[in-house]
Amino acid sequence: MSQLAANLRGKSNWVIILCAYITVYVILDRISSVQALPDIGFTLWNPPPAISLALLLTCGLLFAPALFVAAVLADALSGAVSAWLWPALASDAVVAAGYTVVAVALRPLVRRAAGLQSVREVSWFLVIISVGVLAIAGSVGAALVLMNVVPMSRFTATVRHFWVGDLTGIVGLLPVLLTAPRAWKRWRELSTRTRVVDVGVFALSLASALWIIFGVAPPQEFQFFYLLLLPVIWIGVRHGLSLCAMAILTEQVTLVALVNQLDYPASDFIAFQILSLAVAVAGLVLGAVVTERLHAEVKLRQQQAELGRVTRITTAGALGSAIVHEISQPLATLATYAHACQRLSSTAPQDKRLLTETLAKIESEALRAGEIVERLRDFLSKGDTLLGPMALEEAARRVAGALVDEARVNGVEVRIEAQSETSIVADRVQVEQLLVNLIRNGIEAAAERTTGEKRVRVRISRSDSEIRVDVEDNGPGVTPEIMERLFEPFATSKTRGMGLGLSLSRQIVESHGGRLWYERTSAMGAHFAFCLPCNRTNVDVR
Ligand code: ADP
Repeated sequence: MSQLAANLRGKSNWVIILCAYITVYVILDRISSVQALPDIGFTLWNPPPAISLALLLTCGLLFAPALFVAAVLADALSGAVSAWLWPALASDAVVAAGYTVVAVALRPLVRRAAGLQSVREVSWFLVIISVGVLAIAGSVGAALVLMNVVPMSRFTATVRHFWVGDLTGIVGLLPVLLTAPRAWKRWRELSTRTRVVDVGVFALSLASALWIIFGVAPPQEFQFFYLLLLPVIWIGVRHGLSLCAMAILTEQVTLVALVNQLDYPASDFIAFQILSLAVAVAGLVLGAVVTERLHAEVKLRQQQAELGRVTRITTAGALGSAIVHEISQPLATLATYAHACQRLSSTAPQDKRLLTETLAKIESEALRAGEIVERLRDFLSKGDTLLGPMALEEAARRVAGALVDEARVNGVEVRIEAQSETSIVADRVQVEQLLVNLIRNGIEAAAERTTGEKRVRVRISRSDSEIRVDVEDNGPGVTPEIMERLFEPFATSKTRGMGLGLSLSRQIVESHGGRLWYERTSAMGAHFAFCLPCNRTNVDVR
């Protein structure tokens, strides 16, 4: 709406805006004159104030004097000014001032670009309009009583007439004016088929309801009035507030024309108008609920798309970091062995056996690094796991063998204890990687001890359905700062740590249908444990 205002202001053709406003106001005043009170001309359906409020809300309060000019002109053309000059001018002044105040109160609701769309905004809109119009009706009524135009005995009836007429006119037309750009946008988004079906259903249900109410039901028209809710509900549920406001206005205009045509007395007319007001309020609130839901859905879709994008970036980043993290150890070992080979070939070239052994170690470490990269890529990108039978004890010993140099340098003893059979169906490379992460963490932690024995103990036990592995060390234990985020990626307390080992380990265990956790019961050092199902033939890929 503010865009419309910007456009209007952009053209800065105030004269055109003023002329257009006054012309539309006067024409609308003429054609909406139904059940007008004698002499003072208050009608039971009065939409021109909706045009005035739309002008003030979109083009600014500077246009407030135009409200007075338009009202006086409309009165002059209807003959009211010549009959009651001062009372007409006084009531026009009160009306212009009153609607300017109402516009000020409504401004916060329509200031936003997409104003008037939530249930809260629509509720406040209805409250402000109802109270504002009542206050204006009371003030105009009081002025007319004071000026002896209306006898005191007719004060209440005059106020009620004014209130019902202006309120129905505003509630019917103003939401359409305020949401017109959105209605147009929504209309353009619809396929021709949807347009034809929805307009067809609306027209058919409106015609049927009117036929039943005014054709079949008399003299009990009011009993069937609720049928007029159906066409509004149809459009409200399908398209939300903006098109529902159009449906309400269409229904209102048709109803007023019909009731006028059928020559109902003023008392019935008021009753019809109050019922149509109830239909309009229900339709606007329903439309706002649907609009809110549609917006929430769009927002959710945007958030999901954004989340997907972030997840892809994070996964790509995690993949890169994980590769660096996991192959840095074999690369370091490779460098050490290569250096050893160089020294052996220069200092003891005759010791071929040692040279061959060290070269074999180089080959095995290089292969392991390549295997890790490949398996990590598969695991992180597609979640693939290559299942096969494997013995956990053997895997643990192999891993301990690979880490023996690191353990020896730090003076840490790695002990593997297994009870009975430890075979499972799992991805060997992933499970070895998991053991490397836990045992290496244990070695690094135990290495921090300054006195006494430094040790890491790996215990493998089996129940009927699962195999449990406990990895305990007698290092300083997990620091409290990291405890809550222990398994989150990038949570690390080490200067050169990546914080990926435990999160990757948990992913590996969970993709095998198992669990990995930290045992808080350990009195000394850290205690990690994981369980894997023994008889698994396939895995949940996450
Ligand atoms: P990184 O070893 O690269 O830091 P991890 O995910 O393997 O990444 O470990 C995360 C953090 O958990 C470590 O930085 C450390 O603070 C803590 N941690 C892991 N294992 C142990 C352990 N055995 N003893 C004490 N702290 C540990």
